[in-house]
Amino acid sequence: MEKHNHALFCAVRGFLDFLFPRECPVCGRTLTLQEQFLCIECRANLPLAHFWSWPHNPLSDKFNEMIQRDLQKELGQNGGSEPPEKQDGAAAAYEPYAEGAALFFYRAPVRPGVSGGPAMDYRMITRRLKYEADLPLGRHFAKILGKHLAASALFRTVSCVIPVPLHPLRRWQRGYNQAEIIGREIAGALRVPLLCGVLRRVRRTRSQARISLDKKSLNVQGAFDVSSRKLQRFLQGQPRSGHVDSGDHSLHILLVDDVFTTGATLHACYRALRDALARLGFSPRNVRISVATLAFARTI
Ligand SMILES: [Zn+2]
Repeated sequence: MEKHNHALFCAVRGFLDFLFPRECPVCGRTLTLQEQFLCIECRANLPLAHFWSWPHNPLSDKFNEMIQRDLQKELGQNGGSEPPEKQDGAAAAYEPYAEGAALFFYRAPVRPGVSGGPAMDYRMITRRLKYEADLPLGRHFAKILGKHLAASALFRTVSCVIPVPLHPLRRWQRGYNQAEIIGREIAGALRVPLLCGVLRRVRRTRSQARISLDKKSLNVQGAFDVSSRKLQRFLQGQPRSGHVDSGDHSLHILLVDDVFTTGATLHACYRALRDALARLGFSPRNVRISVATLAFARTI
């Protein structure tokens, strides 16, 4: 029976491929019947980042630098006279290291081999998901990332996944949120809840892709807020871990987006969450807020 189904699937796929040839999004070559989403060459050359098994990788280091800068600023405002262990909540100079992972490197097209085949542009994977509503493609790669995260010791303690939200108007225009598509697959792989609506984008921002690196941070500052009611509802179902009285580190939130470039958007989300948790009595030193994206763009 299964053999029959497979034969039928191949016949239908073959016929559809004849009518509407499928293209590899990375190199543009027509896909064969056996190839799914990417051609065999682009799949073999996918520039995997392997960050899920690499503690203190370039992505997580970059994100933690931003967190550290915030802490230094807070310490400066508080005079910096108290040792870290004596300072409470928002003024603490220590926070658990945020883990960070991406599936592949986001880089400009490369032409493989000396003979020069078609250029491979892996940026097309996230672009197709974001601008051309290629949700199956996004889900496919998010599933691969989810599997790696589920097998990694760094992400084993994650308690929930929160996707970076779009402004309601943009979400309505697009019809979906690409970060939510990715987050859903990752939450499924980690077997934890996906929290939508906890984090909200309250201010419309210009597209981060169209502004200079140094303005990205300003562009998203204060763009997010947190629904305390929804966050509280989730926390009530959790053990009292992470609370200021409990002293352990088991509240571990994973923020998810499509691409990590400067980290400015994820950092703005992190700040909104951290402030909301502090208002609910969670000490920042007891909560880990990590990040995961499909792609990581190296910037100078
Ligand atoms: Zn290809």
